[in-house]
Amino acid sequence: MSSPAPDPPPVLPWRGSTARRHSGWPAGYWRVVVLRGLRLRCPVCGRGRLFATYFRMNASCSCCGVGFAREHGQWVGSLDINTFVVAFGLMIASAFAPDWPLPITLVVWGAAAILVPLVTFRFSRGLWTAIVYLSGGVY
Ligand SMILES: [Zn+2]
Repeated sequence: MSSPAPDPPPVLPWRGSTARRHSGWPAGYWRVVVLRGLRLRCPVCGRGRLFATYFRMNASCSCCGVGFAREHGQWVGSLDINTFVVAFGLMIASAFAPDWPLPITLVVWGAAAILVPLVTFRFSRGLWTAIVYLSGGVY
């Protein structure tokens, strides 16, 4: 007769549960949380807005009160997502672009490299907030 395996230690010292280990969450709940993040809503309640202005996030949810930013450097992950997605997307788009002369190519792709990350910035923040919530960092 074998004894049951002991619980693994908490992933984060201040939060003993994660998306996988959170017993109160139904299966597939992570999809709901990610969609809330991509809709720029609070990943916990789905109602509060993440952003007060285009670039400035709210410190906490106006509906449920959870804090979105807990640590310095927390948003580096969203910058990584934004950089990777935009760079990969622009590389794919440039592969299918028409054969423009060099000055037009530089203007088009230079402008796209500046403007597209500004558009996707909010959504990468929302996605990252959802990921942080699923890993126990939003509470
Ligand atoms: Zn909320």
